Amino acid sequence: MGLTRVPGLLYGGDYNPEQWPEQVWQQDVRLMAEAGVNIVTVAVFSWSRLEPAPGVYEFDWLDRILDLLHGHGIAVDLATATATPPPWLVRQHPEVQPVDANGTRLEFGSRQGYCPSSPVFRDSTVRLARAMAERYRDHPALVMWHVGNEYGDHTVECFCEESARHFRRWLGDRYGTLDKLNAAWGTSCWGQHYTDWTQLSPPRKAPGPVNPTQVLDWRRFCSDALLACFEAEREVLKEVTPDLPVTTNFMSILHHLDYWKWAAAEDFVSDDAYPDPADPASYLKAALSYDLMRSLKQQPWLLLESAPGAVSWREVNVPKEPGAMRLHGLQALAHGSDGVMFFQWRQARYGPEKFHSAMLPHGGTDTRQWRETLALGADLRRLAEVAGTGTRADVALVLDWDSWWGLEAPESLPSNRLRLHQLLLSWYAPLHARGLAVDLTPPGRDLSAYRVVIAPNLYLCTAGQAAGLAAFPGQLVVGPFSGVVDAADQVHDGGPPGPLRGQLGLRVEEFWPIPDGVDQQLVTGDGTVLTTRTWSEWLTVDDAEVLARYRGGPLDGRPAVTRRGRATYLGCLPEDLTPVLDEVLAAAGLTGTDLPPGVELCRRGDLLFLLNHGTAPATVQLPTTGTDLLTGRHLHGSVHLAPRDAVVLKP
Ligand SMILES: [Zn+2]
Repeated sequence: MGLTRVPGLLYGGDYNPEQWPEQVWQQDVRLMAEAGVNIVTVAVFSWSRLEPAPGVYEFDWLDRILDLLHGHGIAVDLATATATPPPWLVRQHPEVQPVDANGTRLEFGSRQGYCPSSPVFRDSTVRLARAMAERYRDHPALVMWHVGNEYGDHTVECFCEESARHFRRWLGDRYGTLDKLNAAWGTSCWGQHYTDWTQLSPPRKAPGPVNPTQVLDWRRFCSDALLACFEAEREVLKEVTPDLPVTTNFMSILHHLDYWKWAAAEDFVSDDAYPDPADPASYLKAALSYDLMRSLKQQPWLLLESAPGAVSWREVNVPKEPGAMRLHGLQALAHGSDGVMFFQWRQARYGPEKFHSAMLPHGGTDTRQWRETLALGADLRRLAEVAGTGTRADVALVLDWDSWWGLEAPESLPSNRLRLHQLLLSWYAPLHARGLAVDLTPPGRDLSAYRVVIAPNLYLCTAGQAAGLAAFPGQLVVGPFSGVVDAADQVHDGGPPGPLRGQLGLRVEEFWPIPDGVDQQLVTGDGTVLTTRTWSEWLTVDDAEVLARYRGGPLDGRPAVTRRGRATYLGCLPEDLTPVLDEVLAAAGLTGTDLPPGVELCRRGDLLFLLNHGTAPATVQLPTTGTDLLTGRHLHGSVHLAPRDAVVLKP
């Protein structure tokens, strides 16, 4: 069963026919069919064209384009068109536009400018979503709904009075009484004791550091407020078209939205991914975020947007080299996507994204870009059987948004150098290099399917979360600065690692962040010398084996890495995690595969993906004989992969 009723893998992109005269539409659908496009996303930013005046709808053009697409065998991912409120709504109700932390109301003229807490905005989106659902409920082209666009992009938060009232209601639901809120926020500090709910506000620009628990609750609230916008539209769509799947396009590993909560509200996860072609590590970052997408609902997901070549919003927008469009698409499939889609179908002639690449570029069909678009379509038809297959992972990385928000709160931590995405990558990279499949998991999920669970950081760790980790029967690894605070960002009794202390058998007496540019050495039991930067801790071991100790510096001789039973703790951030990881994997009975640098190995169902992201040719030993679905070649022994080449091996 696929994500939609379109068979095989999905191939297509955002299509903005309202930017083109109708005679171009005929050419578009003909070329889409030629390229093997079987789905396009329509109407993402069409609100001002679909509802040019309050309650006045102009659906004729959208009717014609949906009919035309259907006539050429192309399905439609129909957006609810609510991503940018139209000018008339903004002028009639200026309060729809968001206000920044300094109190400045942002102007119209860009996109996604709205206050998530505005009832006018919310009601207007729901009205439009209903009108669209009722108009197109029986249209044969429509196979899925695309709500809003990239929630959290541009508009993450709004500091207006309406948002303040909404925040107070949210706080009322969370705490019930002001006494409980005052206790949780620790308002005895700096004289912040609240005596009336109306005194509470968003963390607007203040003279100095703002209460960190207030900021943490604000982050939770902002994710929930945007989610409520999504859910309000989803409810209408489910009422009118209960059988159509509803999704919204995520933005890879995004700090501001708790995607565990968001994914639970979707029928399937979809993602927009724009790895930077100029960054040699971008394939690794993409792999990590794709694994998150697969893990969110533990099922296939959809790459709903990516760039065929260059984007238009970086300082320097480097195109993709020949073959990279295909390689990056195959990478998404390897990590669980049931399709490859792009922003956008036809390259725009105007607007901020006119230099953003497209499947059909300004230069038309006699271009390298168009030839790659055709070739990828042909490849995806050869890989139809990939759709719907799953991935089994033995290793999981813990990702918790509450903890992330606490860890990266401004102005109140021992160091601002601990960044969760970087910490996740530091563990992900050596696992990925061994071809080991990795899931991401919230700390509260059932972990029994895994053999290794790694929490690169769990700054905020509740007693319940700690109990879940203690019950995990496999190898557990906990990174530094974990178990520090509870759900209210208050330090656990006795200090870190708080509720993890019994399991880890140690206490963290002092944090010892390392200044930029300074190396701290440590030595393992077998004499291997490692370097840690950024962070170290004064550990006191109660009941644990010491695997490595600091050498030199203020912590000379003190424990740096420990193990108690199946639980390994690192009070530091070794640049090379291999010695620690190898021991953990060996204890779990996992070996992995020796892979040349830059080569990625993924399993999906019974298929083996081998992808060469490196700049050099590579030879890879095959674990099995089989047929390369991309070329039809029978392969055995080893396979030679040119840079940006790939194999999808069917045993
Ligand atoms: Zn607001």
